[in-house]
Amino acid sequence: MRSNPLSDCDINMTEKTINIPVKVYGLDELSPERRRVADLALRYTENAYAPYSRFSVGAAIELDNGEFVCGANQENVAYPSGTCAERSACFSAGARFPQARFVRIAVAARGTDGAVTEPPTAPCGACRQSLLEYERLAGHDVEVILTGRETVYVLPSVRSLLPLAFTEF
Ligand SMILES: [Zn+2]
Repeated sequence: MRSNPLSDCDINMTEKTINIPVKVYGLDELSPERRRVADLALRYTENAYAPYSRFSVGAAIELDNGEFVCGANQENVAYPSGTCAERSACFSAGARFPQARFVRIAVAARGTDGAVTEPPTAPCGACRQSLLEYERLAGHDVEVILTGRETVYVLPSVRSLLPLAFTEF
C-alpha cells in the first residue's frame, strides 16, 4: 500500500491556533467614551447611500485631537466604484486631520429590513486592511467597537480583527 505523500510532507508541521479577543457587552453597558462613537456609527447608518444592497452601514472614528469623523457606505451603479462606511470614514479622517491619530472606531449596520443588525456587523476584509494602516500610523492599538441592536463586540485593536495581516514588517 502506498503511503500518503501529504503525510510525509507534514512530518515537521506544527499547528497554531489564533484566538481573537472579543469582549461582549450589552449596548447599555458601554462606557460613555465607547457609547459616544457607537451612537455616532448608529446615527450614520442613516447617511448611507445604499440603493443596491439596501444594507446601510455607519462608521465613526475618534481621533486623538478630540475630533470625530464619520462615514457611511456609498454605493454606485458600477458596484466596485462604491465604498464601505469604514473606508469612507478612515480616508476622510486621514484627509481632514492628517496629523491626528485614531483612538477607536465604531461600526454599525442596518439590514434590508431597516433594523440594526444583531449580532453586530463586522468590517469586510478590505476595510480591515485599510484600518490597519491607520493603526500602524497611530503607533498604538485602535479599539474596534462593533455595534449591534443589543449586543456590542469590543476588540482591543484592528490587528486583532485581521490576524496574519499583510504588512511590510
Ligand atoms: Zn468594507
